[in-house]
Amino acid sequence: IAEETEAFVARQPTSRAFRDRATHLAGGATSNWQIADPQPVWISHGRGSRIWDVDGCEYSDFHGGYGVALAGHAHPAIVAAVTERVGRGTHFAQPTEDAIAVADNLAERFGLPLWRFGNSGTEATMDAVHLMRAATGRSRILKVEGGYHGHHDSVEVSVLPEADDDIGPRERPHNVLDNSGIPTEITDLVTVVPFNDLEVVAQVLDEHPGEVAGMIVEPVMMNAGIIHPLPGYLAGLKELLHRHGALLAFDEVKTGMTVGPSGVTGIQGVTPDLVCLAKAIGGGVSTAAIGGTDEVMSLIADGGYEQVGTFNGNPLAMAAARAMLTEVLTPAAYTHLEHLRTRMETGLQGVIDEHALPWRVITAGAKGCVSFLPDEVHDFRDFLTLDGRYGHAHWLVQHNRGAFLPPWGKVEQWLMSVQHTDEDVDRFVANFAHLAERLT
Ligand code: PLP
Repeated sequence: IAEETEAFVARQPTSRAFRDRATHLAGGATSNWQIADPQPVWISHGRGSRIWDVDGCEYSDFHGGYGVALAGHAHPAIVAAVTERVGRGTHFAQPTEDAIAVADNLAERFGLPLWRFGNSGTEATMDAVHLMRAATGRSRILKVEGGYHGHHDSVEVSVLPEADDDIGPRERPHNVLDNSGIPTEITDLVTVVPFNDLEVVAQVLDEHPGEVAGMIVEPVMMNAGIIHPLPGYLAGLKELLHRHGALLAFDEVKTGMTVGPSGVTGIQGVTPDLVCLAKAIGGGVSTAAIGGTDEVMSLIADGGYEQVGTFNGNPLAMAAARAMLTEVLTPAAYTHLEHLRTRMETGLQGVIDEHALPWRVITAGAKGCVSFLPDEVHDFRDFLTLDGRYGHAHWLVQHNRGAFLPPWGKVEQWLMSVQHTDEDVDRFVANFAHLAERLT
């Protein structure tokens, strides 16, 4: 790690100079998650599957801006749609025609009839939590230990607790606050449960009769590498919650368009009461969407819950989302993504087998990761034993050899775009082979 860190810094003197110049940017970056060790990477531009930093280093982009760039960069359809829109004005706080096309497309993909828009994943999951509470008249929310749903008060609980926090037993995790500024009066209304465990959810529902508004869950968990749901888990959740008069919200902010054309919802054939989308749907422009059943979304329609926001359905975002959903994310695009997924999985697994390493490759459509753990991971506690140095070393090795990954190698996944090629995948696999050789 020390050697690779030195190489990392040596490649990027301009990034370092930018950071030093950014004295009026708190922390020298525009989000705390851009402040990676040893330094943030400042980007100049992107095209296709590639990005370039301000030092002129070129990368195959597997970061995808935290799972946004499913179209790749400067995709001609997005550029055309956004350019056309910019010339006609970008904001009126009134709906534009593109919003109809986006809502129609999402309704068809996800099997939910009514949609609204926002600007970030945080807004979508915040609306979902509010809607579940408003629709049931109840306050308690269930969330999964290790699940990330954005940075609003009700969900910043037990997102990435450490083994030495007061985490309690696996079946009954204690609430661990992940940020300052969040009152426990609010997080006391949240019960944290393990992923893939229906029994615990049943117990919690029995212990709090008439109190639980609903549960928010990533149907494929993506804050701990990737954890797939066990067969029957999602359908079981829906059945249990509904039996107790509570609702189910899928947070598909990361999975929505990346795992397949209609998210995990479509793959698993379980339609929840609410689906939250953001990241990739906007083709690189900040957009979020929340879709739901007639029953829940009628609260918005009749004003019982005010889903509002100056930038909701922003014309630029709607133009980009329309192009993304109707022109970029075609059946052919998903065929290409599946080809890349297979090539990546086969290549990495070949390296793992060749070196007899105890690791495994986990994929979900265009997303994937290497799990540096010997056993299958079913919930966050399995993941907690992982030594974060593997992910960090992997990130540095990939970075120094032209493959850009999110800096939090332990928790994050790669994203491949519709513009990625075999060459990008082979570069990633070759770099991984280099890591494997150095560690064996
Ligand atoms: N939900 C999930 C599953 C996420 O991964 C994220 C962000 O990483 C969010 C919600 C929050 O989205 P945003 O950062 O756009 O607010």
